[in-house]
Amino acid sequence: MHVLIDAPAKVNLCLLVGPRRPDGYHELFSVFVPVDLCDEVEFSLVLRPSGTEAGTHLVELHCPGIEGGDNLAIRALRAVEKLSGRSIAGSVRIEKRIPVGAGMGGGSSDAAAALRAAAQLLDEEGGIHIEVAQLHDLARSLGADVPFFLEGRPAVARGIGDRLEAIDLPPLSLVLLLPEEHLGTKEVYGEFDRQSAAGDDRRFAENVARAEASWARLSAAGGRSGLGCAETAAAIAGLLENDLEGASFSLVPDLIERRKAVEEEGALGVLMSGSGPTLFGLCASPDHAAEVGRGLAARGYRTRTVMTS
Ligand code: ATP
Repeated sequence: MHVLIDAPAKVNLCLLVGPRRPDGYHELFSVFVPVDLCDEVEFSLVLRPSGTEAGTHLVELHCPGIEGGDNLAIRALRAVEKLSGRSIAGSVRIEKRIPVGAGMGGGSSDAAAALRAAAQLLDEEGGIHIEVAQLHDLARSLGADVPFFLEGRPAVARGIGDRLEAIDLPPLSLVLLLPEEHLGTKEVYGEFDRQSAAGDDRRFAENVARAEASWARLSAAGGRSGLGCAETAAAIAGLLENDLEGASFSLVPDLIERRKAVEEEGALGVLMSGSGPTLFGLCASPDHAAEVGRGLAARGYRTRTVMTS
């Protein structure tokens, strides 16, 4: 089987983070949207004859910078081998276009692409059907963001980010301010925990209730086409929030300057995506995003205009 998948990046239009739970996870409320900045992931896979020992790691990986079994795409194939008891061989080539460790979920998206490719392989060559619910369980075991990429459409996420509900949003024009540095998600949550204060539990619950109501109203208006794209973008600009900004901005203080630059260039709103350090400016149209992008490029920033899908 040969398949080429465009694995999209994501941004979070809203990310509310609860205090650290005893199990180490944080409760989240988030709005995820895929954007058309994609890794190109090519799978050439075969199913080895049944009875061949599974997990023999016969998949060759080409992914400059992230080689080996730690690559999430390879971990996803191994998870499918384990579930099905069948062994997979062949090659995976990943052309990374999504910046690594930038809060845009590239690794999780590659993992979701690998789950879909492996499910197709088992179906076509082994007559084995993996149920959607099983695929979601595998996705969850690989990382909290992976289930979102299996669906690949705008969604509200709850729980640790893995409980998804589709949300109706029109395509939005964004300009990404791509970082030169990486930020580890763990490192950012560690800093968030250090900055957390007593009473944050109650504040989180109140903030989630407020955000849920606002996003539900917006989704309903979008679904009825009550608002045009530009009006929706303006409404969304008022809802952008990310509880991790404080932590990431402490770790990379230059983000404060970058955020200000996106504002000054005229974006409707600015936010950090996920745990950062990518920032995005929400714009009224593709032309507006291109104009903001040109302004940022003139200041020496690396940018990319994208559409949410
Ligand atoms: P998050 O999903 O937490 O927002 P991120 O977008 O900041 O993460 P990623 O680019 O997905 O970060 O990668 C985070 C880590 O995952 C890196 O340390 C990287 O080495 C590892 N990783 C494993 N496989 C991949 C992959 N296919 N692409 C990118 N990173 C990968």
